[in-house]
Amino acid sequence: KRFEDLPIHESLMKGIYAAGFKKPSKIQENALPMLLNNPPRNLIGQSQSGTGKTAAFTLNMLSRVDPSIMAPQAICLAPSRELARQIQEVVNKIGVFTEIKTFLAVPGSWTRGQKIDKHILIGTPGTLVDMLSRRGTIFDPKHIRVFVLDEADEMVAMQGLGDQTSRIQKMLPRGVQVVLFSATFPPDVQEFAQRCAPEANQIFL
Ligand code: AMP
Repeated sequence: KRFEDLPIHESLMKGIYAAGFKKPSKIQENALPMLLNNPPRNLIGQSQSGTGKTAAFTLNMLSRVDPSIMAPQAICLAPSRELARQIQEVVNKIGVFTEIKTFLAVPGSWTRGQKIDKHILIGTPGTLVDMLSRRGTIFDPKHIRVFVLDEADEMVAMQGLGDQTSRIQKMLPRGVQVVLFSATFPPDVQEFAQRCAPEANQIFL
């Protein structure tokens, strides 16, 4: 399987090559056809770090953003600021040949009254709850079409993060594509995943 066989825009192909990726990893080979298919469907994926899952959901976010609309269209949540920052780097790297801009939504990265017009927000749940609770003054979630939850097992394990994630999801438009990755699926994570991403395609490698 090759990246060229997947419905990936030319500008993103350039980003993939510039990142040094020659062929899709196993998770990418399995997840990308499902993620990029239309109409969009939810995905629940089991994947450890080091497998290339970040690039998989990154390519999906970048593919579904319209850079001519100056408003957030994808949100990616991570359980820590450090992971959010690493994800932002991957998005920026693969998206370098596009006009798509990202914003790191972590504590201290925004101020009241600031209007955020970047296309992809990557951050931690608490900060996104804060931003969204200001009734559209920071950004209006109406253009959001992709919602990514990375390391869902970590989110569930951390006090409050799972609830904050659900609060955010309730403020997003109906029909948003939910993409959830987790390394492990104990019963509480399984339940969380089914609730966040109903009727999802599933990948357990
Ligand atoms: P992740 O599992 O997302 O943490 O990614 C693990 C590492 O694999 C990162 O350093 C990526 O740059 C790298 N990587 C992701 N996809 C590919 C690919 N298709 N070919 C080579 N390296 C990749």
